[in-house]
Amino acid sequence: MENEEKLQTSNFKLQTFNMSIEVKNVTKIYGEQKALDDVSFSIEPGHIVGFLGPNGAGKSTMMKIITCFIPQTSGSVSVCGYNVIESPIDVKKQIGYLPEHNPLYLDMYVKEYLDFVGGVYKINNRKARVKEMIDIVGLGVEQNKKIGALSKGYRQRVGLAQAMIHDPKVLILDEPTTGLDPNQLEEIRELIRSIGKEKTIMLSTHIMQEVEAICDKTIIVNQGKIVADDKTQNLRKQKNDEIILTVEFDKDVDVKKLKGINGVILVKNKQNKVWFFAIKNDGVRNNIFQFAVQQDLVVLTIQKETESLETVFKKLTT
Ligand code: ADP
Ligand code: MG
Repeated sequence: MENEEKLQTSNFKLQTFNMSIEVKNVTKIYGEQKALDDVSFSIEPGHIVGFLGPNGAGKSTMMKIITCFIPQTSGSVSVCGYNVIESPIDVKKQIGYLPEHNPLYLDMYVKEYLDFVGGVYKINNRKARVKEMIDIVGLGVEQNKKIGALSKGYRQRVGLAQAMIHDPKVLILDEPTTGLDPNQLEEIRELIRSIGKEKTIMLSTHIMQEVEAICDKTIIVNQGKIVADDKTQNLRKQKNDEIILTVEFDKDVDVKKLKGINGVILVKNKQNKVWFFAIKNDGVRNNIFQFAVQQDLVVLTIQKETESLETVFKKLTT
């Protein structure tokens, strides 16, 4: 058994690959629904990459395909050089996965559960490894509790420990911070950052601030299609011809009238009397003020959102 494992390890070392994850022209159709539409991207080793998109964009679907939980309809995916369809067992050895609704056994004790997962992966020296994982994810104080008794933040730590117990090279985290309170959120982000120093991480989120806070690279997905793929820094700085404004009026306004303002490309209601405007250039702001005067409206606030990632995200996904 030990020899066999050594053999597998040395085989793995012979396997050469440039990309941790390589996705080529992947389409996924559920019945009539096209959840992914010709998606291609690659993730280099050692990066923390954000997979950002609104609900229903196809993030979880992509992650389930990468982790061999469901097959794609067409296209190819490989992880550390192993194809998900041809070599799912090898892929699973390279990957740790924290699913969206982290399905933990609530009646199990933390240690017992991690020991059980370690058994599934046939890990040597399980006891020591479980102890090590408890240290890495900061579960020390809670280690003797039942999972059901833990807060959501600590359950996520158990989820991360379970995902990493076999020391995979790549971690796939599906919305790892959703549902956490602000303190837990910051703690889990910090944990992900520190894990990211050693591993390749792909994490999904529908929150722009999340990728700004932790990801070197961001892939934006909308309605099953990749709409941006760049360093987070570059996306933030992306030169825009259009400018997005948030404008608050003192009264309700007819959207048709707003669309009629010269230089306005797009209008979208944010809430009540607050509107998003996409405008051609800065000068168009004057037209909005003049329009307000003509309509006997008061502009309570006008805010330009050019250089934030949020702007880019809104433009690409609305
Ligand atoms: P996200 O994780 O970005 O919110 P999902 O990958 O969960 O998006 O879903 C993408 C689209 O595929 C959605 O429109 C969703 O309703 C649909 N979908 C997801 N899973 C299934 C399924 N098992 N059967 C049918 N449609 C599905
Ligand atoms: Mg999802």
